[in-house]
Amino acid sequence: RAKEDGRDCFRVFEPDMDATVRLRSSIEDDLRRALDRGDELSVHYQPQISGAGHQIVGVEALARWTHPTRGAIAPEQFIPIAEATGQIRRLGAWVMREACIASRRWPDLVVSVNLSPVQFRSADLFETLTGIVRETGADARMIQLEVTEGILLDDDALVRTTLTQLRSVGFTIALDDFGTGYSSLSYLRRFEVDRIKIDRSFIQALGQTVDSAAIVSAVLSLGQAMGLAVTAEGVETAEQRRFLEAAGCSEMQGFLFAPAMPAEEIDTLLIRSRLTDAA
Ligand code: C2E
Ligand code: MG
Ligand code: MG
Ligand code: MG
Repeated sequence: RAKEDGRDCFRVFEPDMDATVRLRSSIEDDLRRALDRGDELSVHYQPQISGAGHQIVGVEALARWTHPTRGAIAPEQFIPIAEATGQIRRLGAWVMREACIASRRWPDLVVSVNLSPVQFRSADLFETLTGIVRETGADARMIQLEVTEGILLDDDALVRTTLTQLRSVGFTIALDDFGTGYSSLSYLRRFEVDRIKIDRSFIQALGQTVDSAAIVSAVLSLGQAMGLAVTAEGVETAEQRRFLEAAGCSEMQGFLFAPAMPAEEIDTLLIRSRLTDAA
């Protein structure tokens, strides 16, 4: 990093940089403790809505960490640290277990779980995930695994074999944050997947740039042509929703509908939406 900064090499020695390093290593230690004890970590679930029926068809499991002194720490902060230290394997397995247990309360919902590229580097990923499904009594067909382009950096053959194995026992695979990397189209060709999740940066640009509408429409057509389902992430406005509906988007997720919430609140939402349906 210091090298990248070029003439700013001395930066690493500045006190605030030192503080960053200290914060990082304290987060690392604290995360280890949190994983051992389990009481500071939780999983929240964000509803995914069908484009046509406006029903909740799935939820995405998202890790949450409430630190005893620092308060809520964002996944954007602790996931990269967990990835760098390898703790993501334990964290990922823990989230998977929580999500599988929760999925039994919602037999009609697909529960999505994020997988880090680092987890793909473990030879036992398949055994770990199928083991958790078996132990919890979940149905793999109702569990969707979200992967990002990061898996492309790894051994293609191994990743491909793992994805094939996972799909063969019923898991579905979604490509998360689609369009943000530099080789999104190439990984569509290299890996068999079931769904594309259009990154929220494209959705948020809808109505602001002409290009974003063209890109979103093109990804929706691509999905249709390839027989892939498409989810729009980060839908925040009624206008974005109208555009996506008109363009034939099958699933949406975003603050317009609901943020991530504890499992009990999903229960409440489901009860309420059933009452509305019946009315
Ligand atoms: P992601 O997988 O793309 O998850 C979607 C993120 O977008 C979530 O942030 C969600 O709260 C946020 N989001 C949803 N709707 C909206 C919206 O309308 N507007 C905006 N601005 N944001 C929206 P979150 O929970 O902070 O997670 C951030 C990222 O951290 C996730 O992005 C995922 O890459 C990672 N992450 C979270 N939990 C896990 C986990 O258990 N395992 C792994 N490997 N990664 C995780
Ligand atoms: Mg995701
Ligand atoms: Mg995403
Ligand atoms: Mg992401």
